[in-house]
Amino acid sequence: MEAMHCPRCREPVLNEVQVGTIAVDVCPECRGTWFDTGELAATLRAGELPAELRGPTEPGPEEPRSAVLRQPRAHPAPESDLPCPRCGRVLDRYWYAAEPGRTFLVDGCRQGHGVWLDAGELELARNLLPRFAAEAEAFSRSGKLDETLGRLERQGLADRLRLEVTNIIRAWLGR
Ligand SMILES: [Zn+2]
Ligand SMILES: [Zn+2]
Repeated sequence: MEAMHCPRCREPVLNEVQVGTIAVDVCPECRGTWFDTGELAATLRAGELPAELRGPTEPGPEEPRSAVLRQPRAHPAPESDLPCPRCGRVLDRYWYAAEPGRTFLVDGCRQGHGVWLDAGELELARNLLPRFAAEAEAFSRSGKLDETLGRLERQGLADRLRLEVTNIIRAWLGR
């Protein structure tokens, strides 16, 4: 497969890092990670993360942007300026698992190639999972899961992005 460049650092070539049965692509400089479609959901389900995918042990001077959980409607996602490492088109910034109070920003390719997470954001997302699980279960029982998915649909997310989000919600539900 052709080498992929980091959308943030541009030049450095992403290194494959094995997570269970899949391989994700990590930047050796900024430690951001590219997930092909489906790989983020699989990584969130994985057990122990390899060291390359763990966030910094000391919090950096700046919080990762997703550390702040916000209402997507009150704060529209800002434009992304990162190119997709597969096709070069500018990534869309969108709210992953757009559920009030439990959303985080990712940069995803509208062509369905995958999503980019900056260093530390994966761990942050994984830390949210246990908290989210009970709520997701309640959603499921109350039928609000459909509402959540319906809301995503109305936001006009591309099919593949919607699939990715659905996969995440399913992962949270353990399905
Ligand atoms: Zn980088
Ligand atoms: Zn792309």
